[in-house]
Amino acid sequence: MRAMPIPSILGFYLCLIFSPTLVAVGQQNTGFKVIVLAELGDQHRPYVDAAKIWLRDEAIKGSFTIDYIVSPDSITDLFLSKYQLFIQLNFPPYGWSDAAKGAFERYVEEGRGGWIGIHHATLLGDFNGYTMWPWFSEFMGGIRFTNYIPGFASAKVVAEDNRHPCMKNVPSGFLVEKDEWYTYDNSPRPNVHVLASVEESSYSPDSNIKMGDHPVVWINEQYKARNIYIFMGHDPGLFKNTSYSTLLRNAITWAASANVRKGQK
Ligand SMILES: [Zn+2]
Repeated sequence: MRAMPIPSILGFYLCLIFSPTLVAVGQQNTGFKVIVLAELGDQHRPYVDAAKIWLRDEAIKGSFTIDYIVSPDSITDLFLSKYQLFIQLNFPPYGWSDAAKGAFERYVEEGRGGWIGIHHATLLGDFNGYTMWPWFSEFMGGIRFTNYIPGFASAKVVAEDNRHPCMKNVPSGFLVEKDEWYTYDNSPRPNVHVLASVEESSYSPDSNIKMGDHPVVWINEQYKARNIYIFMGHDPGLFKNTSYSTLLRNAITWAASANVRKGQK
């Protein structure tokens, strides 16, 4: 073995002490990083609080880490580059700055990470003085929100594509006890890949707020990012519904997986 000059040996040990890469050897986190944009409004707060508890447990089991933001103001290319998955937890697609919109659009269009949108993420239209975000409407299949069942209804959700990884071990039909079943000006089906729809004839109590063909879970394969929208997401009791939690767990694994390797240093 060739002798190392003294300054080199010193340098080597200093590297060992100060290099974060070397210090981390043996305790590397093999998971991925998730950013959650969470809505804190009153009506969805109980669901979001329940989701946080569920996500914390899933993160431990799945070896991933989660950061939360409650406003899109900090969203930039650099900010998003730290994350392999973006979860839009009931946060609506309005009130975003042009800078945040631009960074989000690039994240999705260039497949810099995956995206999961829950429930309120399709509140597409003109609300609270904000006009509709046309890019987001296209991303969701070219839809505009029209109505909802304010008194809630239980309903049967029917799986349409059990071969998709997000639907693994999700029953072909399952009951959702309480949701608002948003309607849109048209079905997104011609522009997206529908994974599940709601059977409007099963509404209890019945309601005349219906749209016919009524998808509730879909992915848009025209965008590079693995993306999935899941309508159900108003009631905290959903986390006791194993069909729902299985769908959400599958969605996290699937949507993040395309970018996990890329995100590991
Ligand atoms: Zn709601």
